[in-house]
Amino acid sequence: KEKGFQFMVRTRVVGGKITAQQYLAVDKLAMTVGNNTIRITTRQEFQLHGVAKQDLTSTIRAVNESLLSTLATCGDVERNVLCCPAPIHDSVHEAMQADADRWASHCAPRASSYWDIWFDGEKIENPLFPTAGPILVPTPGDDPTEPIYGKAFLPRKFKTAFAFPNDNCTDVQANDLGCVAIVENGTLVGYNILAGGGMGTTPSAQKTFPFLGVPICYVDRADVIKIGEAIIKVFRDYGNRSDRKRARLKYIIHDWGVPAFRAKVEEYFGQPLADPKDAPITDVDDHLGWNEQGDGKLFLGLPVENGRIKDEGSLRLASGLRALFSKYQVAGRLTCQQSLMLIDLDPAWRADIEATLQEYGIATVEQISTVRRWSMACPALPTCGLAVTESERALPTIMDQLEVELAKLGLENDRFTVRMTGCPNGCARPYNSDIGLVGRSASKNPDGTPGPGTYTIFLAGRTLGDRLNIEFKDYVPFDRVVPELAVVFARYKAERLAEETFGDFCLRIGVEELAGEPSPA
Ligand code: SF4
Repeated sequence: KEKGFQFMVRTRVVGGKITAQQYLAVDKLAMTVGNNTIRITTRQEFQLHGVAKQDLTSTIRAVNESLLSTLATCGDVERNVLCCPAPIHDSVHEAMQADADRWASHCAPRASSYWDIWFDGEKIENPLFPTAGPILVPTPGDDPTEPIYGKAFLPRKFKTAFAFPNDNCTDVQANDLGCVAIVENGTLVGYNILAGGGMGTTPSAQKTFPFLGVPICYVDRADVIKIGEAIIKVFRDYGNRSDRKRARLKYIIHDWGVPAFRAKVEEYFGQPLADPKDAPITDVDDHLGWNEQGDGKLFLGLPVENGRIKDEGSLRLASGLRALFSKYQVAGRLTCQQSLMLIDLDPAWRADIEATLQEYGIATVEQISTVRRWSMACPALPTCGLAVTESERALPTIMDQLEVELAKLGLENDRFTVRMTGCPNGCARPYNSDIGLVGRSASKNPDGTPGPGTYTIFLAGRTLGDRLNIEFKDYVPFDRVVPELAVVFARYKAERLAEETFGDFCLRIGVEELAGEPSPA
């Protein structure tokens, strides 16, 4: 008898834009072939977990019929393209979202391999063909050559984000390609181009490390596709194809240095590159709560703890969102903080929507703590095969404990990011957060079941996402994480400078010195 194989199915959602029909289609799949939950990822996508092997084909078909797609959600290609999801009706937001869509379509794989089925060395007819998602996908008879990827595709995955300097909600420097909007006189004129961001690392291999995207150049808006293609082609042609651990773009830039990398990009671009403009990252907006769209309508950003949409106890988030999307038939947006927006809302619906949220036990941003609002975790156990520790199931407990400690110190309104992962791959971007908790080693409970494991604690990153954090303590057992942090928070409370953030404080005092504090009992 065949084993009961289960799969994760990830959908491509460029810029996190979904229709009500698409949400309801994914919800239906989650409740019929998935594990009754939907996960919003840190890359503005949906993941369905627990899809049985025999349901895989029909699930992918249903995803495509909803005009979403699973194309390029994995593999050595451009992955889901991130963009600020705020549905603000002004020319700069609309222009940036249009550019993100163009770049995603431009980089979508053209080869028909997505649709091909091979059995015993023979290509057989694909019953799904020619159903296609909204992003460019091949149709029968298309030229199967790949103008960007060539015959061998990329050495590894490639990630892109678009952001504003005053709203880095896509964590632009954690991406291989970052496009930071330059706005002049209310017009999006071009982008500062960053390259080489990436979080993944292997602790046992010193040749691997997290890296933040570095400024390469400025391009006018008309050239954003051209510069992106130049960078992706340099990666294609010079990325390490013999050592997968070092196959990301960041290692080319680290090994060559920025000037040599820039010169090679310039060669592929075909004309001199302009220097980046002065546009530092100054803020992040998580777009939660009720907000004006600028067209008389409202959008509502709802926090989704660790991106998991489910019904559990008095929280009936899955049922509540199903009710809201069914009733109002409005579009939604997924954020890089794993939250969800309902958009295009008539202000007259507000009281009814709030009553529905209350009926289903769904917390609004005003009802959760600041520390929980700015936290996120990757899925880890039991659904991720690479996990060594808990993450999604463990972070709520960390939050409960931190809320108590912060309230004792009067720090409950301080804003800082806490990001947790179940392994060093860094899917929840732990290495540029104020507090990073990265799964280090597995443990077992007395009954032999997987225990909560140990973690590496990192401090001194920033909510802005523009600084890597530093290792504070390693192999910290799960139940020691908050006591270790509480000591640092007590010093922060006593010694911080005016307006100093937690991450800046840790950097000023020195993480090594903070680690030298006696461990709490
Ligand atoms: Fe899995 Fe590791 Fe990614 Fe978490 S960070 S989802 S454990 S690969």
